[in-house]
Amino acid sequence: MSDLNQTLFDRARQVIPGGVNSPVRAFRAVGGTPRFVKRAQGAYFWDANDKRYIDYIGSWGPMILGHSHPAVLEAVQKAALDGFSFGAPTEREIQLVEALLKLMPSMDMVRLVSSGTEAGMSALRLARGATGRSKIIKFEGCYHGHADALLVKAGSGLATFGNPTSAGVPPEVVQHTLVLEYNNIPQLEEAFAIHGKELACLMIEPIAGNMNFVRASVPFMKRCRELCTQYGALLVFDEVMTGCRVALGSAQSVYAKSIPGFEPDVTVLGKVIGGGMPLAAFGGKRAVMEQLAPLGPVYQAGTLSGNPVATACGLATLHEISKPGFFDALSARTRSLVDGLTQAAQKAGVPFSADCEGGMFGFFLLPELPQNYAKVMTSDSPKFNQLFHGLLDRGVYIAPALYEAGFVSGAHTAQDIADTVQAAAEVFAAI
Ligand SMILES: *Cc1c(COP(=O)(O)O)cnc(C)c1O
Repeated sequence: MSDLNQTLFDRARQVIPGGVNSPVRAFRAVGGTPRFVKRAQGAYFWDANDKRYIDYIGSWGPMILGHSHPAVLEAVQKAALDGFSFGAPTEREIQLVEALLKLMPSMDMVRLVSSGTEAGMSALRLARGATGRSKIIKFEGCYHGHADALLVKAGSGLATFGNPTSAGVPPEVVQHTLVLEYNNIPQLEEAFAIHGKELACLMIEPIAGNMNFVRASVPFMKRCRELCTQYGALLVFDEVMTGCRVALGSAQSVYAKSIPGFEPDVTVLGKVIGGGMPLAAFGGKRAVMEQLAPLGPVYQAGTLSGNPVATACGLATLHEISKPGFFDALSARTRSLVDGLTQAAQKAGVPFSADCEGGMFGFFLLPELPQNYAKVMTSDSPKFNQLFHGLLDRGVYIAPALYEAGFVSGAHTAQDIADTVQAAAEVFAAI
C-alpha cells in the first residue's frame, strides 16, 4: 500500500519550508514521515492512510475536551452563522474575559489576542512600558513564543546576557534578556542583586512544558515572587500551556496552595482558552493593564483580536471544563496514564521518571525527574525515538520530540489509557 502521508509530505516540501507550518511537526528530531491528519474525533485522529491514533498532543494543548466536542462544535457553528470577524467589539469578548477573571483572580483586566507568541510579546512590552525599565529575566528551557527578545535559550553563567538561538535576531535586540537556570535560587538572587533595579520583569513558565515537564520548585517560586516585589519588577506567568490545563485556576492556583496569597502580576494565556481556535490573552492588575493603548502609552493591537468565532469556541470550552468534577476526572485519568507507564518501564528495567498535574504530563528516560534544562538534555534521545516510533506504529501519538509535554483530554477513556500502557509495555520490552 502506498503511504499517503509520504505522498503529501513530498508535495508539501515543494511549497512549504520543511513541509510544515511549525517546525516540530516535521519529525526532524525522531525521523520518519509526519502524519497528515484527515480528521479527528474525541481522543483520536486519523491520518492520510485512515490509520487511527490515540492523540496525546491535542493540538499541543488546546483540545482539553477532545476533538469536536458537541457543545463546542455547536457554539462555533452558531457563531460562524453570525459572521466571522467585524473589527468592532462584541459582547462575547466581555463574557470570555469575565470568565477568565473568575478563574484567575490575580487579574483585574485582560486583553485578547490571537496567539501565545503575540500575548507573550505584548506582555513583555507592557512590563517594560509600565516599569520604564528594559531588562528582563527568562529561564533556560522556557519558551515564550518566538518574539525576538524572548527567543533566547543559551547563556549559562550569571551576568551573561543571552545569545539568540535563532538567526535573524540581532544581538542588540536580546542584550537586555538575562537567561538564568531554572530552579537555581542562588543564581536568581545574584541576578537581582546586580540587575534588580533595572529589571522590568521576570517571565517564567511555572510548570515548564517546553522542556517536557519541569516544575518550578515551591521555594524557587516563592523567591521569584519575593525578589520581584522587593525590586519592583513584574512577575509574569506564561501560562499559555498550563492555563486552564493543570488546574481550572491554572498553575497560579497550584502555587497558591503552597504559598499563601501567591499571585503573579501579569498572566499570559493561550491554547486551552481558545479551545483550538486562534485565541490568546494577557492580563493583570488594573494599574498595569491601563498602561495599554488607548488608555496608556503602550501600543498593542490586532485585526482579528477577540475574533467572534474564536471567543465562542473558548467560552464553550471554559464552560465545559468548569463543570463540577471535570478536572478531578481529568487529573485521575492523567495520573493513571503516568502510573501505568512508570510500572511498565520498571517491569522492563527501562530508566524512567514521570510527573503530571491536571491534564498535563511529562516523562523522561531518566531515573529521576530533572530540575533544569541541562538535566533534561541528558535524557536518552535514541531510546526516546525508539519509544516514539514503537508507540506510533501501535496507534499512539505522543509529541515527536523528547522536550515536549503531553496532554490528556476529557475524551480519553480508561480503555484508551489501558491500550496506551499496553503498547508502551510492548515497546519497553523491546528497547
Ligand atoms: C505554545 C506556547 C507559546 C506560544 O504560543 P503560540 O500560540 O504557539 O504562539 C508561548 N508560551 C508557552 C508557554 C507555550 O507553551
